[in-house]
Amino acid sequence: MITLLKRAFDFASRNALVSNGNTYTYGMLTHTSQSVASNLLGDRTDLHEARVAFLVPPSFEYTAVQWGIWGAGGIAVPLCVLHPLPSIQYVLKDTQAETVIAHSDFFDFLRPLEREIGISLVPLEKALTKNTAVLPDVAMDRRAMILYTSGTTSKPKGVVTTHANIEAQITTLVNAWEWEQDDYILNILPLHHVHGIINVMSCALWSGACCEFLPKFDAEKVWSVIASGRLTLFMAVPTIYYKLISFWEIASPEEQQRLSEAASKLRLMVSGSAALPVPVLEKWRSITGQTLLERYGMTEIGMGLSNSYREERRPGHVGLPLPGVEMRLVDTDNNPVGENQPGEFQIKGPSVFKEYWQKEEATQKAFTKDGWFITGDIGMLNDGLYKILGRDSVDIIKSGGYKISALEIEDVLRKHPSVNDCAVVGIPDEEWGETVSACLVSDAESIDFEKLSNWLKEHLPTYKIPRNYILRKELPRNVLGKVTKNDLKKFF
Ligand code: ATP
Ligand code: MG
Repeated sequence: MITLLKRAFDFASRNALVSNGNTYTYGMLTHTSQSVASNLLGDRTDLHEARVAFLVPPSFEYTAVQWGIWGAGGIAVPLCVLHPLPSIQYVLKDTQAETVIAHSDFFDFLRPLEREIGISLVPLEKALTKNTAVLPDVAMDRRAMILYTSGTTSKPKGVVTTHANIEAQITTLVNAWEWEQDDYILNILPLHHVHGIINVMSCALWSGACCEFLPKFDAEKVWSVIASGRLTLFMAVPTIYYKLISFWEIASPEEQQRLSEAASKLRLMVSGSAALPVPVLEKWRSITGQTLLERYGMTEIGMGLSNSYREERRPGHVGLPLPGVEMRLVDTDNNPVGENQPGEFQIKGPSVFKEYWQKEEATQKAFTKDGWFITGDIGMLNDGLYKILGRDSVDIIKSGGYKISALEIEDVLRKHPSVNDCAVVGIPDEEWGETVSACLVSDAESIDFEKLSNWLKEHLPTYKIPRNYILRKELPRNVLGKVTKNDLKKFF
């Protein structure tokens, strides 16, 4: 049996999950997932890696379904409740899922797909009906899950992880961040990415801790849970911290003090999935006393690098490789680069995924001959800790022979008083290859871009100064709050 499920028996009477106002023990979770597995099996003895998709909001039922699929020997394909039908159709077609287990809120929404791609829809209540069958013994090297990448650089790719990969991803974090039974975490993230599924939910359940679900992010609700004092941990993406700060800023001074005091008591607050702007880290620290722990990860590897739980957490840096993660920083010929030299992160270890689903060529291209996974992310070692410079494809701008980090320019732009937020991209240009171009978000009606460029010249060399600017109300982002830079380029 899969270790995560096996461990749950030891915690049977402890609280595992809180959702929709109800509390569920580990015992309830193992029973209900046993029912799901039995219902999925029907007359079969093993699903033999059949893909079972599910569209269920973050809740006790979500977890019971995921564990049920694993218990029956299937491959879990979590769908996102915030995605439009074409995105869901893409995943269902790509995985050739045999079934979709759907919450009643989404049944009518999915109905057209039944005819179009011949998928069988199973109502969530039916999947949960009490049932006991003998479950197969599922080996750790079998495929467990297909998660789709965020689609930031191209069409989302189905990332296949085995039970052993998932276990390595979980245990790495449980050890590094010192998870324990008495921990209590709030999940506000969508549950179709590693951030929510592994870092939050599965680490909690591995540890015998409790995970509460908020179906959708809402700054007021999150603050009220923080104020309740029951959380020991919190994890989110940078845009969520930004929204929590905005909410705090308009509260009354007494309220601010109450919220700040409550937030200061958590033992750990983590940020990841996208670069954490230093002003957000600093503001959060000034209002809560918490230095956010920034880490770096990918759907393909789980978490790779992390700032330290106990030692220095340096703003703008992602720390060091996590225990069990082998990492190297190399040039285009795969030779190691020295300190302060930009290079590409390559990763090895048990947490690295098995393959892109039915994309043999893409899988082959993703690894070096000697088995290192090529992340496509550029970074450098800076005074003992790693820093992310961005993605080779969208954040590293190739202009006039230079390789320029968009993230570095964004960091400087954010320091300008008129700039609330920004994103920098390279726009194709005959003369320069690409030109540095900035999209700004500001409260101001207009910005004098010439003055801004002059101000930037005090902080950056001339070749890094944006040649084009646009001003917008907000940046295009996906459901994880990542700026979709390929969409942004179209605005220039
Ligand atoms: P796609 O692969 O479809 O283009 P994606 O890479 O955004 O999308 P994910 O696997 O969800 O899909 O995201 C992983 C990426 O997120 C990393 O490769 C990295 O570029 C970025 N990332 C994660 N954490 C950080 C961080 N702390 N700082 C900067 N970037 C980060
Ligand atoms: Mg990626």
